[in-house]
Amino acid sequence: MNIRSEDFETQLVEFKPLKDFFVGVDSDGCVFDTMGFKHRECFCPAFINVMGLQSVSLIAREVWEKVNLYSRTRGVNRFIALTKAMDVLREHPAVIKKGVAIPELDEVKKWISREPKLGAGTLQEELTRNPHPDLLLAMKWSEAVNVAVQNISRTVAPFNNVHKTMSRLSGAADTIVVSQTPYRNIELEWREHGILPYVRMIAGQESGTKAMHLRLAALGKYPAEHILMIGDAPGDLQAAEECGVLFYPIIPGKEEDSWKELLDEGIDRFFSDRFLGEYAENKTRDFLATLSQ
Ligand SMILES: [Mg+2]
Repeated sequence: MNIRSEDFETQLVEFKPLKDFFVGVDSDGCVFDTMGFKHRECFCPAFINVMGLQSVSLIAREVWEKVNLYSRTRGVNRFIALTKAMDVLREHPAVIKKGVAIPELDEVKKWISREPKLGAGTLQEELTRNPHPDLLLAMKWSEAVNVAVQNISRTVAPFNNVHKTMSRLSGAADTIVVSQTPYRNIELEWREHGILPYVRMIAGQESGTKAMHLRLAALGKYPAEHILMIGDAPGDLQAAEECGVLFYPIIPGKEEDSWKELLDEGIDRFFSDRFLGEYAENKTRDFLATLSQ
């Protein structure tokens, strides 16, 4: 794989407003009901296999799902999720009792701490400089995940009302995908389900963090109250808060209701400057209340 991450960044910097509003929309778990499925069937089996967790597979699965689906780290970049899950697993009483050694992945953590664009392209660049076994392991795992995703995720359709909502949004707003999934996976899924025409570009993990996507593509180009991030994870909220822009949550477990409400009420509020304040605060509060710490 040879992804030149600077090309993706240039695309964001050169993004020009065509409309008065801007919308960044996350993909996994937000537009597609793929979050649980991908984690259970793609990320987790590769995690157990590549990290050698066969003897503690049940606990590994529980930890992986907790970190990625049911806590405040839901939707975090895959490499951050990997190190976090390994750390949680290492401290798990049943794992300690069994005497299973869980790799520290220190070199991956060091790479994460200095690299803002956590994707296959930058990991490959890092590997050419530093072919450390930790980094090779992370790459091997990430590639196994991508293969699994490409092989089995085609049948998952967008949530109800995504088409209608995206169609209305894109009528009055410049809309892009803001995601931590590799660009190619997103393009494949959005094209397959006929929703690619609603967005002007895809910002995936190769283009940096979600906050970077919003900052480079939108900040200073539109008024802050005309910029909306739609997402299903605390990281999406955090990116919006970091940039001082609006956030609409697609609440885990209530995704279809969330899209319906966005279509029926949220969009009109956004386009008529009535989103900020009590409405936005209530949405964020309900969202955070559904996820454990
Ligand atoms: Mg998501």
